[in-house]
Amino acid sequence: MSGTGDGLVWLDTPAFPQAARTALADPQLRGNLRRATGTIRDKRLAVTGELSDWEQLREAGEALKRRTLRHLDQYLEELERSVTAAGGTVHWAADAEEANRIVTELVRATGEREVVKVKSMATQEIGLNEALAEAGITAYETDLAELIVQLGEDRPSHILVPAIHRNRAEIREIFLREMGRWGRPAPEGLSDEPRALAEAARLHLRERFLRARVAVSGANFGVAETGTIAVVESEGNGRMCLTLPQTLITVMGIEKVVPSFTDLEVFLQLLPRSSTGERMNPYTSMWTGVTPGDGPREFHLVLLDNGRTATLRDTVGRQALACIRCSACLNVCPVYERTGGHAYGSVYPGPIGAVLTPQLAGVDHAASLPFASTLCGACYDACPVKINIPEVLVHLRAEVVEAKRRSRHAPTAEALAMKAAAAVLASPARLAAAQKAAALGGRALAREGRIGRLPGPLRGWSDARDSPVPPAESFRAWWRKNREQS
Ligand code: SF4
Repeated sequence: MSGTGDGLVWLDTPAFPQAARTALADPQLRGNLRRATGTIRDKRLAVTGELSDWEQLREAGEALKRRTLRHLDQYLEELERSVTAAGGTVHWAADAEEANRIVTELVRATGEREVVKVKSMATQEIGLNEALAEAGITAYETDLAELIVQLGEDRPSHILVPAIHRNRAEIREIFLREMGRWGRPAPEGLSDEPRALAEAARLHLRERFLRARVAVSGANFGVAETGTIAVVESEGNGRMCLTLPQTLITVMGIEKVVPSFTDLEVFLQLLPRSSTGERMNPYTSMWTGVTPGDGPREFHLVLLDNGRTATLRDTVGRQALACIRCSACLNVCPVYERTGGHAYGSVYPGPIGAVLTPQLAGVDHAASLPFASTLCGACYDACPVKINIPEVLVHLRAEVVEAKRRSRHAPTAEALAMKAAAAVLASPARLAAAQKAAALGGRALAREGRIGRLPGPLRGWSDARDSPVPPAESFRAWWRKNREQS
C-alpha cells in the first residue's frame, strides 16, 4: 500500500483505465471475484425477499440519513456531550494527519507498543497502520480477511471481504509462509479447508487478544442521543478487541452518527441483509463510555472529517455520505466484478468508491473514477439506503469535464469532437449530410458487417469496441420516402 496523499490512502495502482486493463487480463482474479460476488448476491436476494416491508425499510434508512446529514453539526455536538457524560473522551480530527497523530499519541500515553484492531474502513482510509508503524507501534488486524491481507502484504479489494480476490489455496499458502513471522505459526500440514484455515487464524489471534492492552476500532454507528457506539461483525474477533483491552480508541467518520437509539432498529435490519446476506449479523457490540468493572477503563472517540464536510456542501454528491458500507453495490456491479477492487486505487472500491473517493480527495485527484461505471443502475437498486449512485456519477463526470476545461488553455480532441457534434446535431440539414457520409464511409471500412479499428484520431474510441455498419438509408430519409406523402 502506498502512503496517504490528499488525506486518503492510495493503493499502488495506476489510474482506473490502465489498472482495469491489467485486471481483465487475469483469469484467476476474475474467477475468484465471479464466484464470491455471485454467492453473496444470491444470499442477499434471498433474505431481502423474505421481508414484505423491505422497501419501506430502505425508505426509512434513506430518510434518516438525509435528515442526519442536514443537521450533522447538531447531532455531532450532541454525540460529543453524550460520550463525555458517559466517561469517554472525544477528539476532533480535521484530516488524516491529525487523526493519525491523535491515535499515535493516545497509544504512546499507555506505554504500549502494539495494538489489536477491529476491521475499520476509516483507519484504512487514513493509513493508520502505517502511521503507527512509523512511530514504532505494531497494529495487528484481527478480522480474518484483514489478517489475510496483512500477512500477505497485500491490499484490500472489497469493503466487506478485503481478501475476496484470494482463493483458499492462496490463503493456505500465505498462512504457512507468514504466520510464524507475526506470532504463532500455522499448524503443520494445514489444509485449505475453510474450517482448518479458520482454526489456524483463531489460534494465531488468540495469543494477540490475551496480550492486548490497547485496541483500535472503527464504528458502524454512533448514537447522538446516548453516546453509544456500535460495531457489527461476523466473527467475534471484534468483540474480543472491544472488551479485553484496557484502552479502546475508536476512529469514526463524522457521517456515521445517527440521532437516536431507536434508529438502530432500521439500520441493524438493513445492514446484515445487504452485506453478508444474513438475517442478523452474529455479533453486535455496543458500548457507552466506560463502565466500572466491565470492559476497557479508557475510551477515546476520534471524530474524523477528512473531506466529509466539503462533500456535505455538494447537495447532489452528499448522498454518498449516507453509505453504511454494506458493499451490496460492489457485489452487483458488472465493472467491479470484472476488475476487482484494486483497480479503483483507493480503499473504497466499486460504485461507492467511484463516487466517494473523488469527493473526499477532490475530483482532480481521482478523475477517472466517475467514469468507471456502465451507469446500469444495479447499484442504486441494491443500495439499502437508496443512494442514487448513477446520479452522483453523472454529476461528478460533469465536474471532471469542467475541471479539465478550466485547467487547459487549448481544447482537447474530445472537446473539439463534442463541439463538432453539437453543430451537426443542431441542424437537420447538417445531420442528414453527416449520416450520408457516415453510411458511405462505414460501408467502405466494414469487414463482415462490422467496423473494427478506425483510422486517425478515432482510433482511441474504436480500440475497445466494434461498431455496426450504418444503414444505407437513415430513418429520416426512409420516413420522408414512405410516410410523409400518406
Ligand atoms: S453505497 Fe449503498 S450499497 Fe454501496 S456500500 Fe454504501 S450503503 Fe451499501
